[in-house]
Amino acid sequence: MSDARSRIPSIDALLSSPEAGAMMADVGREQVTNAFRTAVSDMRSAIARRDPSLAGFVEDPAWYVQRASAVLSAAAVPGLRRVINATGVVLHTNLGRAPLADEALEAMRSTAMYSNLEFDLAEGVRGSRYAHCVQLLRDLTGADDALVVNNAAGALVLSMSTVGMGSGVAVSRGELVEIGGGFRIPEVIERSGASLVEVGSTNRTRPVDYEAVVESGEATAILKVHRSNFRMTGFTEEASVGDLVDIGARHGVPVVHDLGSGLMVPAETLGLPEEPRASASIAAGADAVVVSGDKLMGGPQAGVIVGRAELIERMRKNPLCRALRVDKVTLAGLEATLRLYLDPERVVSRIPSLRMLAEDEDALRAVAEEVAGMLEARGITCEVVPTRGAVGGGTYPGCELSSWAVQLAGPRGAQALARELRTGAPPVVGRIVEDRLRLDVRTLLPGEHELVAGRILEAFTSSGSET
Ligand SMILES: *Cc1c(COP(=O)(O)O)cnc(C)c1O
Repeated sequence: MSDARSRIPSIDALLSSPEAGAMMADVGREQVTNAFRTAVSDMRSAIARRDPSLAGFVEDPAWYVQRASAVLSAAAVPGLRRVINATGVVLHTNLGRAPLADEALEAMRSTAMYSNLEFDLAEGVRGSRYAHCVQLLRDLTGADDALVVNNAAGALVLSMSTVGMGSGVAVSRGELVEIGGGFRIPEVIERSGASLVEVGSTNRTRPVDYEAVVESGEATAILKVHRSNFRMTGFTEEASVGDLVDIGARHGVPVVHDLGSGLMVPAETLGLPEEPRASASIAAGADAVVVSGDKLMGGPQAGVIVGRAELIERMRKNPLCRALRVDKVTLAGLEATLRLYLDPERVVSRIPSLRMLAEDEDALRAVAEEVAGMLEARGITCEVVPTRGAVGGGTYPGCELSSWAVQLAGPRGAQALARELRTGAPPVVGRIVEDRLRLDVRTLLPGEHELVAGRILEAFTSSGSET
């Protein structure tokens, strides 16, 4: 055994091969050296295990080169990487929510270098990062002013801290919701330095309930939270934004509306049921409206606050704003996304998540059939089935999107196939339904259906050779 080990080539010898030279040109000497150390260590273990399969390669430099290059390829795969979404959930939070428009990507790429983030080009003096996107948001929502921060959860914390610090914020008991990931309205309010003043009951809250706590001075602000991620039906009643604005105006307290979803086009243009929009809350007189950049707005992760200029200015001056500061790349992507809304006739076709939501069922069926055709031509059995997806991102609860999928069993079962598709390059994520892997085509980006077919073919061929 010790004899076999002594026949392993030295690291120096391995590093002097032309193949090693090519690898070093790529990733540098240190990583190549470490990769050969791994190869040598693997060979030592194989000898110790008396593994016969490697016995013939102990002295073969080509084996070490191949092993080292496999180690380097594995290490080169980024931790965070692109995934093909075949789940049918358009704003899949675990898969990064909204896929961005080309225009947004281009803007993000160019501003990732130097930009006029905080520089006034006309005057040659310091500018403000908070000046970007403001005019667009004013035009699109009708608000006087706007502020962009890191995400909507942060925007809500900032709003509550600004209007409620050291005093009470009135919220309906029917709106003390968990937004997701343990982010709960009562805790957000407490952490913002405000105290929660609960009004009404779980199912019914009337304007007089708010009026009572505002009149008594218990609450100096009102928060309305859109129930974006669940539905309440039956014996229910709630105060409208307009009702709250009346109360707020009479008593001089601000009304903040946390809308979340960020829908910017009429819902019917996406074939979806009505969902409140920021422009409607602003028109109804809300002092501030909070929406997310990466839900139905279809942009990068961001929190957008639109509202009355004096209140937005106080938020900008709140020290918390600095902690929630938005990045230049995000601002560029958001601005480019918002700009697309200036052309209402084309915005749906240009923002990928909106296009997916609006996609016609027959077109989806045709894509599923095209994928199935490519697979069947190679002898792979599959089915094209109707399926149901979702909007996702905690929006449109209970609303299903009728779609089409390619469904297959896989040579070693659906779970094994799903795993193989997830772990290869690019990863493809589908759903298991009744022991079949179901790949919904609604959430595929242009050209991805061919990649999916390719990955499935690969999975079938590799398992064919193993069994
Ligand atoms: C999603 C949501 C938020 C949080 O938005 P993020 O962008 O995820 O931070 C806040 N409020 C409501 C009502 C939401 O639906």
